[in-house]
Amino acid sequence: MHKNQKTLFIFTFSIISILFFIKCNGNSKKTKENTADTKCQHCGMFSEKYPKWHVKMEMEDKTTKWTCSPRCMLLIVQNHKKGTKKIIQPKEIWVKDYYTLKEIDAKKAFFVSKSDVFGAMGADFVPFSSEKSAQDFAKEHKSSQENIFTFDQITLEIIKKALE
Ligand SMILES: [Zn+2]
Repeated sequence: MHKNQKTLFIFTFSIISILFFIKCNGNSKKTKENTADTKCQHCGMFSEKYPKWHVKMEMEDKTTKWTCSPRCMLLIVQNHKKGTKKIIQPKEIWVKDYYTLKEIDAKKAFFVSKSDVFGAMGADFVPFSSEKSAQDFAKEHKSSQENIFTFDQITLEIIKKALE
């Protein structure tokens, strides 16, 4: 009887430990922002490591996909236009304003390239909600007015030049 009680105690303790472990693990993975697969859809890096830079893409099928940085997102969009690489066409794209870190609609954002600020993958297109912020940033960070683009102005050629 005594032996049985001991076994039961060990068994119960093990179950509680396992449940506790599962719960902790589950909690750390499931944040509000990153519930789906958070790997960058372009380069494969984990986007949640770069909360200042990562880009959220809402897809047609209502799933959420991520890239680690604006440059990876822009490459996806441009490659899709050319029909060359993996076909992903996001319905909505949310980047983060570099100054405020607020989520902004990428299609209304202003992007600054060729600055001395590096993103998750190195040289990047730094997003801003206003043209004024983009201009101020370009002045402060060794870029220039010619390197400010709206979403629609950015082509594959511009990206290649910016990442040289
Ligand atoms: Zn990436």
